Amino acid sequence: MSHVSDKLRQRIVEQAQNRCGYCLGEQRYVFAPLEIDHLRPTAKGGTDDEENLWLACPLCNAYKGTQTQGIDSLSQRKVPLFNPRRQSWKRHFRLANGIEIVGKTAIGRATVIALQMNNRLAMTVRQNWFIADWYPPKN
Ligand SMILES: [Zn+2]
Repeated sequence: MSHVSDKLRQRIVEQAQNRCGYCLGEQRYVFAPLEIDHLRPTAKGGTDDEENLWLACPLCNAYKGTQTQGIDSLSQRKVPLFNPRRQSWKRHFRLANGIEIVGKTAIGRATVIALQMNNRLAMTVRQNWFIADWYPPKN
């Protein structure tokens, strides 16, 4: 069970620029509230400390579940999932055709697969965001 205060949630929202740390979907384009992502899941001993929290969209968060590691499709090695608080998105991912998230590193590749970041629904929505010039985020 998670106990993140409204005040702490607000701080995480600001740090994360009110967008998903994985797919970069912005709150203003998602109906459901973005969720507090426990980088290390509470089910695996993760705490409610600021250091363990970031923001994720409901889709990425649901696919992430309690995973902490994934398989790099290139080396077939087990590696930690991307940490949006500590690691740079641009270092680990890039966008193909403006909408497909491609892993640039073992961590990036494993995270794309573990979180199914290019699932059909996400791709459809992202395509429409792209057409509307809502994606990728400008900053
Ligand atoms: Zn997301």
